[in-house]
Amino acid sequence: MTDPCPCSSGRPYKQCCGPLHRGERLAPTCEALMRSRYAAFARKQVDYLLATSHPELIAAHGGSDAFRRDLLRSCQDHRYPGLRVVEHREDSDQGEVLFEARVFRKGTDLSFAERSLFFREGGRWLYHSAIDR
Ligand SMILES: [Zn+2]
Repeated sequence: MTDPCPCSSGRPYKQCCGPLHRGERLAPTCEALMRSRYAAFARKQVDYLLATSHPELIAAHGGSDAFRRDLLRSCQDHRYPGLRVVEHREDSDQGEVLFEARVFRKGTDLSFAERSLFFREGGRWLYHSAIDR
């Protein structure tokens, strides 16, 4: 029962992102939310991914049902072997995280870097979008 957390924190899953996925705790920072979302892809926690997506992101994907199908497909088709958070910053209820995510689909390396935008609404951090540079 000492599964390492997929977010690459080096901590056991059940003490790291597990309590967030189970709804026992809210992510205290946008960085923690980003880590927990990567771990959620790895653990196929689609409900958590949906619950931590900004309403505008869900709308951009055609609503909850369509987005849920997209997320489930991403979880099922891909492997998520590691994450590195490069930098992060928060300014009250808005935050950014720059990360490098390792992602593979059937042996094809789809790893990427992204600067993500987050908003805190009603005390909960939500993923909004990737920021284009
Ligand atoms: Zn974790």
